[in-house]
Amino acid sequence: MSSAKSASETPRKYQLFIDGQWVDAESGKTFTTPNPATGATLAEVAEGDKADIDKAVEAARRAFEGPWSKVSARDRGKLLYKLSQLIDAKSKELAAIETSDNGKPIKETSYVDLPQVVENFEYFAGWATKIEGETIPVPGQMFNYTLREPVGVCGQIIPWNFPLLMAAWKLAPALAAGNTIVLKPAEQTPVGAMELAALIQEAGFPDGVVNVVPGYGETAGAALASHKDIDKLAFTGSTEVGKLVAKSAADNLTKVSLELGGKAPNIVFADADLEQAVNGAMMGIFFNQGQVCCAGSRLFLDARVKDEFLDRFKEKSARVRVGDPMDKNTQMGPQVSEEQLNRIKGYVDIAKGEGAQVLTGGCPPQLEGDFQKGYFFQPTIFGDVQNSMRVAQEEIFGPVVSVITFENEDDLIKQANEVAYGLSAGIWTKDITRAHRFAKAVHAGVVWINTYNMFNAASPFGGYKQSGYGREMGKHALEMYTQVKSVWVDLSGKPIGWFGN
Ligand code: NAP
Ligand code: MG
Repeated sequence: MSSAKSASETPRKYQLFIDGQWVDAESGKTFTTPNPATGATLAEVAEGDKADIDKAVEAARRAFEGPWSKVSARDRGKLLYKLSQLIDAKSKELAAIETSDNGKPIKETSYVDLPQVVENFEYFAGWATKIEGETIPVPGQMFNYTLREPVGVCGQIIPWNFPLLMAAWKLAPALAAGNTIVLKPAEQTPVGAMELAALIQEAGFPDGVVNVVPGYGETAGAALASHKDIDKLAFTGSTEVGKLVAKSAADNLTKVSLELGGKAPNIVFADADLEQAVNGAMMGIFFNQGQVCCAGSRLFLDARVKDEFLDRFKEKSARVRVGDPMDKNTQMGPQVSEEQLNRIKGYVDIAKGEGAQVLTGGCPPQLEGDFQKGYFFQPTIFGDVQNSMRVAQEEIFGPVVSVITFENEDDLIKQANEVAYGLSAGIWTKDITRAHRFAKAVHAGVVWINTYNMFNAASPFGGYKQSGYGREMGKHALEMYTQVKSVWVDLSGKPIGWFGN
């Protein structure tokens, strides 16, 4: 492959990965991606667009109809398992690369992202041999059974917030079910996916089964979403772009799954263990610099404990260690890009304009040396927020939380659900009946009780309302990557009665 494996100062170079080959873009164009901690160029990457997407879809189609269709379920499972082991063996290096590309702290990439990437490939390796049809008890001398077949060529478009993990969530179930893929990573974070492509090649997947085409959303992404020869489109990213890609896929009636934004309520009742809840609120909003679709960005506090909670929350938030993401003690690194940093600053102004108070943070931290050029922002708490304000309704995607006070449970559930999104929700209480009442009443695809941001490859994840449709991970993910065929067999050997006599 064509990556320069040298020290981080020398920009790495990557080509496109199409049909098992490393190739330049048809246009010859490249783009660079910075290390968000310093702004220094991390890598120079071939810039795929429509012509390259066309080539990749053709390769994926050939592989789907040819060699990949002949690989047994057991061998697909073995390939996925081999891939999980190759990633595991290289996880230290991959964690460092992911940190340099995205800015997330090395502690996070080492202990969260990479282990979960490995877990997802391992989990779906096991599923490859367990995707089964059914026999249906139909009446008469008839035998009816179903085949669960792969959908075909899948276009997968992923965001920059968990670059490798989002690739794993998409690739692993699709491959287990026997599909082929064209993957487009985000322009901000293409490096992990290219490293993954090299391991896919090393694991021995046939050429064309996985193709990775980095490039811009408006060109490469749009070409993939509107391609006539893809059978399924899986997208993770903003609700705005999700609507766009769903519309262009609709022209070809391509099957679509969408994992979009969120504005999750994270709720603290007066009877909660406050220390645990403060830590949970911090995990909910500051993890991954707040660049998490299921972030607990609306913090609902029971009026009876609001002051005590806020004192502790402010004090701890101000002590979060923001800085060099390669330092193992760092808790928050930079935002992914200058654009995202500016978006967050814009929301601070919006919050102030709406009458909210900045209780802590609200601006970039003072850092030294090269990190002055990085895209850092401090943990930020907005107090005096009303649920109807823009900062409570719009996804900010930064370490910025809006605090809303509630008086009683009915009022709380109403407010929690008064939002366009429905991805996740958290609740902190010792009252188990209340916790389960809430879990049932809240409009969200995932609910965390006395915990936050828990994930496992076996547990489904996805949204209600404008947070999208389809479920990733778990057996539910296989439904998105398979289709059902119903087969009827006559057992009587007699002519069909209707026209037979
Ligand atoms: P985005 O534009 O939705 O990016 C997601 C993916 O879609 C990227 O691979 C992007 O490519 C691609 N894309 C962009 N425009 C496209 C188009 N017209 N057709 C097909 N694909 C297209 O997200 P963003 O601009 O990076 O971030 C903006 C906001 O989205 C964030 O502030 C946040 O609110 C939200 N977001 C949500 C998630 C999530 O997990 N739910 C993740 C990321 C962002 P390029 O990056 O190459 O343009
Ligand atoms: Mg974009």
